[in-house]
Amino acid sequence: MKELVVATRNRGKLEEIRAVLAGVVETVYCSVDFPDFPETVEDGATFAGNALKKAREAMLFTGLPALADDSGLAVNALKGAPGVYSARFAGEGADDAANNRRLLAEMKGVPPDRRQAAFICAMAFVTPEGPEQMFTGSIAGHVLSEGRGRGGFGYDPLFLVDGFERTMAELTLEEKNGISHRGQALRQFREYLGQRATESNVKV
Ligand code: IMP
Repeated sequence: MKELVVATRNRGKLEEIRAVLAGVVETVYCSVDFPDFPETVEDGATFAGNALKKAREAMLFTGLPALADDSGLAVNALKGAPGVYSARFAGEGADDAANNRRLLAEMKGVPPDRRQAAFICAMAFVTPEGPEQMFTGSIAGHVLSEGRGRGGFGYDPLFLVDGFERTMAELTLEEKNGISHRGQALRQFREYLGQRATESNVKV
């Protein structure tokens, strides 16, 4: 594929997406590459609804095929919160550090065996001419009571990946993409692009 716009201003996400799509998509643009790129109001009740809304707006604004990821952390002991509110858990415009502090405060006193959580990702792909596609991924883990590691972004330092002795922030970009919610969805997207290319070659 020649050009794709990813509807995000989140550098962490963009870096992960670009890494998986390297060699498959020639140019990956993002929201900041376009002046006055619309800020989608993420008012959906689900990750998939928000992802689709972001992808549609990006496609309509740029005229390019658009990919949008909506993702977040769902914590069992918090009845699935912060969920679709992950980016603004500590308030509108909150940064990662503030969101992590809020998470730690909410989890204070929750014993180790009740700290299960999952990262969830919905990724929508919309083209000017074609049908809409949705790809999803999730990964299970536990919320720590203090952060570890310097990689990744968001809640990564507080998320101990099940089956690993490390947090998401202690993994390399490659390792994180190999197992993460976003990496899973991206690989499905990459396969879909491969199939599409094969089919269009057959038709021609
Ligand atoms: P979105 O940009 O509305 O999809 O919000 C995503 C938010 O969920 C981010 O700001 C992070 O707080 C959180 N999040 C999503 N994916 C990850 C991840 O891979 N690691 C850590 N936090 C994540």
